[in-house]
Amino acid sequence: MTTPFVTTAYIAASILFILSLSGLSTQATAKGGNLLGVLGMAIAFLATALISQGYPIQIGSIGLGILVGVLAASRVAMTAMPEMVALLNSFVGLAAVLVGFAEYLQAGSAGAGLEETIHRIEIYIGVFIGMVTFTGSMVAVGKLQALLPSRAVLLPARHLLTMAMLVAMVGLAVPFVTAPGQSGLLPLGLLTLISGIFGGVIVLAIGGADMAVVISLLNSYSGLASAAAGFMLNNDLLIITGALVGSSGAILSYIMCKGMNRSFLNVLLGGFGEGAQVSSGKHSGPVVEATSTNVTEVAERLRAAQTIVIVPGYGMAVAQAQHAIAEITRILRDQGKQVRFGIHPVAGRMPGHMNVLLAEANVPYDIVLEMDEINDDFAGTDLVLVIGANDTVNPSAQEDPTSPIAGMPVMQVWQAETVVVFKRSLAAGYAGVDNPLFHRDNTLMCFGDARSNINGVLAQLTPVAGGSGSEAVLSLA
Ligand code: NDP
Repeated sequence: MTTPFVTTAYIAASILFILSLSGLSTQATAKGGNLLGVLGMAIAFLATALISQGYPIQIGSIGLGILVGVLAASRVAMTAMPEMVALLNSFVGLAAVLVGFAEYLQAGSAGAGLEETIHRIEIYIGVFIGMVTFTGSMVAVGKLQALLPSRAVLLPARHLLTMAMLVAMVGLAVPFVTAPGQSGLLPLGLLTLISGIFGGVIVLAIGGADMAVVISLLNSYSGLASAAAGFMLNNDLLIITGALVGSSGAILSYIMCKGMNRSFLNVLLGGFGEGAQVSSGKHSGPVVEATSTNVTEVAERLRAAQTIVIVPGYGMAVAQAQHAIAEITRILRDQGKQVRFGIHPVAGRMPGHMNVLLAEANVPYDIVLEMDEINDDFAGTDLVLVIGANDTVNPSAQEDPTSPIAGMPVMQVWQAETVVVFKRSLAAGYAGVDNPLFHRDNTLMCFGDARSNINGVLAQLTPVAGGSGSEAVLSLA
């Protein structure tokens, strides 16, 4: 196929990717943005398939990739989405490593003289970024899946170890770039090994609430790995898409760092949450010290309240309580009450996790506010419902300088007249830090699975029309 056709297709795909990103920036236009991205990717696939020579392999691998992707995406539970994103990031990293080795081993791909040196530097950097992304993402998957401890795991003399690895990786570049022919496999292999350990150690040392930043940072790295693969393969589209993913991931990481009141360097040096006490268990804790409530009382308080703020967290995703919450919101708004949602930037287990769930449940976008937009309003709020949020509503972040999450901005829900927390126990959240909110005078704990309790509240609020409220609710569950 002719180059002008492919160039035009690549330009069209790049423009569609940029428009897609712009569409994804607001919830109202996100669906359209997604479709533009899919269209851009379809054009990119088609153009790439047309220029490639090995049709059976190309079509076979693309077909297999589509099959695995569709099966995985349709089966993954919403709660496992963060792990899925981290796993996909790791694939991008691994692909960049494999492309690096393939390019190095492919005779004649390197050109000669300066061109060859530049190509080798591209390979070296591509393998480094790819491997860091791969092992870093795999460790992140382990942490999110609770296969590895979620807190910061600090190896002895880790800063020394990190420095030694950095020096070794920079040092190995010389024998690799100057090796005649393909005899630089040993330094390249050593780089792969060391950068793999480097990526794993770095992410292992990041713990607790900082994991949110790491996920978006790894996403950014996966973009850089694609861009590096694009340089190695001399493919402009890969460079452009990699740069788009890399830069948007970096911007998101910056926004999340700001949301956490942390600097990039601080996050990367790790150790945040290392002093956190590991939760003693899912359903343990001094339950007697907190005031319990039940669905009937919560429904009564909702009837009495005029201003209500709902603060969701990871527990809402686990319980899949968003549909019942959306229904309660609709009923209360129909009664003329002000109901709004407050979203912490790192609530849940992936960027935008809560927004996705609320959009899925058709909660109107204009009542979903970010932390900075709603934090000042809690003082004038009658009732706050905290649905499975914990770290993001922990007052010790602001009030206890010795707390492992000290300095992290949180939703100041305790300033409201009454707070009702829906969760199963007094156990700590992801960061493993106890939460004094549960013991405050104006806090009521509604213990149990969030979905069944919210459904219970909904049953009390649902107007009876030819049947009991519970019947109406059963159809929602
Ligand atoms: P947390 O992880 O702090 O707490 C979630 C709470 O949900 C738990 O304490 C749990 O309590 C409760 N819960 C779990 N299942 C249910 C259920 N079925 N019904 C009711 N409650 C339930 O959540 P937050 O959203 O407040 O904070 C997110 C944390 O995750 C932050 O520390 C953040 O940094 C981190 N993180 C965020 C990422 C992101 O990108 N957003 C990525 C990685 C980490 P109990 O067991 O008692 O029910």
